[in-house]
Amino acid sequence: MKCGFVLKAHSVTTMLFHANLPRNMIENSMFEEEPDVVDLTFPALDPDEVTYEPRSSRLLVRGLGENDMDDDEEDCESSARLLGMSFMNRSSAHRSNSSPYTRQAPPRSCSRPSSRTIVVCVLFLVIVASMTMVLYFLPACTFTKAGCPKPNKTNPIEPVYPISTNGELFPWAQLRLPQSIKPLSYDLTLNPDLDKMTFTGRTVINMSILHSTNRIVFHGANLSITKATFMASDVTVLEYKPRQQLAVNFSEELKAGQYCVLTMEYSANFSNTYDGFYNSSYIDKDGNKRVLAATQFEPLSARKAFPCFDEPAFKATFLIKISRKKTYMTLSNMPKAKSTNLSNGLVQDEFEKTSVNMSTYLVAFIVANFTSITKNVSGTQVSVYSVPEKIGHTEYALTITSKLLEFYNNFFDINYPLKKLDLVAIPDFLAGAMENWGLITFRETTLLVGNESSLLEKQVVASVIAHELAHQWFGNLVTMRWWNDLWLNEGFATYMEYMSLQEVSLPNYSALDKDALSSSHAVSTDVNTTEQVEEMFDSVSYEKGASILLMLNASFPGDQQFRKGIIEYLKQFSGLNTDTDDLWNSLTQTDKPTHHMNVSQMMTSWTSQKGFPLVTVNLMGNQVTLTQEHFLLTSDNTTHTLWNIPVTYVNDSCSLAPECRQVFTLKNKSDTFKLSKNVTWLKLNYKSTGFYIVDYGKDGWSALTEALSKNVSVLTHEDRASLIHNIFALSRLGRVTFRQVLNLQKYFSLETETSPVMEALLQLNNIYRQLEKRQESNLASQVHKLNTNQTWDKEENVSKQELRSALLEMACSLNDENCTHQATSLFKKYKDSNGTIRIPGDLQQTVFTVAGQSDETWDTLFNMYVHATYDSEKRKMLKGLASTQNPQRLVQILSSGLRGSLIQTQELPLIISTMCQSFAGCLFAWDFIQENWDRLIEKFPIGSFAIQTIIKSVTSQSSTQAQLNKVQAFFSGLKERGSQMRSVQEALETIKLNRDWMDRNLPTLRRWL
Ligand SMILES: [Zn+2]
Repeated sequence: MKCGFVLKAHSVTTMLFHANLPRNMIENSMFEEEPDVVDLTFPALDPDEVTYEPRSSRLLVRGLGENDMDDDEEDCESSARLLGMSFMNRSSAHRSNSSPYTRQAPPRSCSRPSSRTIVVCVLFLVIVASMTMVLYFLPACTFTKAGCPKPNKTNPIEPVYPISTNGELFPWAQLRLPQSIKPLSYDLTLNPDLDKMTFTGRTVINMSILHSTNRIVFHGANLSITKATFMASDVTVLEYKPRQQLAVNFSEELKAGQYCVLTMEYSANFSNTYDGFYNSSYIDKDGNKRVLAATQFEPLSARKAFPCFDEPAFKATFLIKISRKKTYMTLSNMPKAKSTNLSNGLVQDEFEKTSVNMSTYLVAFIVANFTSITKNVSGTQVSVYSVPEKIGHTEYALTITSKLLEFYNNFFDINYPLKKLDLVAIPDFLAGAMENWGLITFRETTLLVGNESSLLEKQVVASVIAHELAHQWFGNLVTMRWWNDLWLNEGFATYMEYMSLQEVSLPNYSALDKDALSSSHAVSTDVNTTEQVEEMFDSVSYEKGASILLMLNASFPGDQQFRKGIIEYLKQFSGLNTDTDDLWNSLTQTDKPTHHMNVSQMMTSWTSQKGFPLVTVNLMGNQVTLTQEHFLLTSDNTTHTLWNIPVTYVNDSCSLAPECRQVFTLKNKSDTFKLSKNVTWLKLNYKSTGFYIVDYGKDGWSALTEALSKNVSVLTHEDRASLIHNIFALSRLGRVTFRQVLNLQKYFSLETETSPVMEALLQLNNIYRQLEKRQESNLASQVHKLNTNQTWDKEENVSKQELRSALLEMACSLNDENCTHQATSLFKKYKDSNGTIRIPGDLQQTVFTVAGQSDETWDTLFNMYVHATYDSEKRKMLKGLASTQNPQRLVQILSSGLRGSLIQTQELPLIISTMCQSFAGCLFAWDFIQENWDRLIEKFPIGSFAIQTIIKSVTSQSSTQAQLNKVQAFFSGLKERGSQMRSVQEALETIKLNRDWMDRNLPTLRRWL
């Protein structure tokens, strides 16, 4: 999934978001949902439980957080836990040598009980019944903190079985499904009714029994099962809603090696969020509302459309049939096999059975009235679909997809395995795009561009297509075993964007900034709740994942070795699931003959621990000393983490060509090596391909500044940009003074390249926004006195267009008269021409933002927004509208976005992040978020990328103690409604860091400005 991307030209990140999670996941973290009575008669432990630590119930408690649990809750919790444990401990007393993780009790079967078993069973029941009574009549104080013995920490925590919706005991107590059953194939029949917004379905699951068991546990959410049969007999399906699990119990054991068929009929409503089988609508060119239905299943929502084993490792084949009205068409992963007229006047489309095994999150289907253009590329039928009135904007996507498909077929040395590949622009879609196998879905902005679109818009489309196509191999063909290794999907797809379209730069700075906080996480990290699955879709999985692959590739001598390794990995695990170690092992194997680096050893230091190193370099003549430490922005900088760092460097006599680059692997805390001759300066991290920050020391920084002041082209533009990023980061860490930062800026009057200028603008903008939010507006307006030379002339080069957009936007936002005058007159011409004169794509944002400032043009712009066709233009208009300072209008767009009336709800994060660029706007946004939090988390699940963005937008520019107190008070009051999110910890940490930086540097800033 492409969950977000940055349009750097607009200095505000344009975020796109991925899908929603079930609403009832909130319940998942509520202790109240846990049962407080345990029935020991059922079920016995089977091999699935023997291999797992039954940790989920314990994690719920951790999830609440120690500080947020008051004494009553804690008592309640420990009582229930002890109740469960004391039972289990007593019951297991007679099998005294069973260790917690090697329990050998076989699953009990009730099918052919011997007389001895019956006696034991009866005795057992009697004991349990009497114990239940004893416990029932015990005074409540028995289970209070004071009254209860402390649990022995070394004892195992036995599973606590929850209660199903029908009151029966649900036979499974973990988030992950048991491993005893493997689904082989699904037959899905779906009957969507787009008038009533409901659907019915029939799912037939063929499965194989791997270990004897007497239950089948799988997923289902918001489905009402009307009939279920197992091998032609009716069965009851139990449901445990907090974990979205369904189960069928059997009195007779299902034996290992058997094949079985479970059939279910059900009905459901279309989801009214952006996940599952959801309905969407748009207004066609005649002003009529058209409805359609589409799916978004990653990560946890296939279960909302059909009952299934909804974990990435349960791969199976799918045969899908969908009925529709004659005026609609349908699409799914595979080509259509046939269409049949049904007696009720509908048509049933049947798709070919999938030719590959695939994970449930990759299944997709659409019912709509789209049209397409198509082309055959090396035996694959490639089509691009859109609503009929936008078909003229599909050509570019088809051309790019054809080129990229050929590139990947060749690069991976494995042909795309399906006969067709559809790319579909969905009018109402939260994620950027989704890589469903053979049926990739996109936002309209990420797929549709016309002749008048800017080069930058085309580049965005090309990158998103490159990302999603790469997933057809990384993710679809070879899939991570569990969401903890999501980076194997997303890091790789992000890396391949960069790799396949050489002009795209890898945005690793955002990941560095996030990973410098102690609230960050390791690339490959434990994921034990649904919220944690959602939280994995962040810049650590995407950008850090991609950056460490880039670093690994750059540390190999040639450029073919890395490719050889990934080809081997893809071939070895084709159709299977993997974890991070599998990848490193494949790369180590190819590495052996030529190179002595142990890939696995090196890369594990980057994937298994959070954060990244700060490398300090000390140059004495020709002797270089390198020291590493954890770059951690918080004050207790005392971790002893070490990385295995392939440090690259160039020097004053050879600094530009790739051949100049040398590598030294730093494994220890500190190490020294000798250069062949004395040099005046070294630049580490050549072209910024390594995931670390460098401090050159006072003399090192001065030498580099001096060299750049003499000749700016002595380093590549990537190296210049990385120096700017690094020195600002070091200033944040308190390692260099702001005076030193300003020294480096001296060379800046000479800088003309986009990436260093953009990096400096971004850094200064951050300071500017913080000053503005402290109402230091005089000071703030001085910050951008630098570098606002703007031009309105036509630019042909994408990088120059990007720079021009950014500079103009900044100049206009600072009320530069020339800028606002030009923008206003362009807007007037556009309006008067009735849309026949177009504003160049890269100038649109500046023009619309200026138009949004005056009440009169705001209304015109709003009217244009409502009637505009193209999503990318609409989004720029919306950003213009959201940049107003008029309170009434701010409230108008926020509430319209929340209702999803004239403004789609998918745009709320964009509205909020735009509003937060200004002081007044951000105050309104903050009030709005507090008042509407529950409605927001209904639309965008806790932990999701959308929620992460909203929290970051509204907090990241705060820098006072008062602001910190407010943010802390609000989020801690949320408790299970979001207080435990990583993004909340990040927000608090960021405000504290801003506060400390301002305390240290405000006097210098005052003097400087
Ligand atoms: Zn992706």
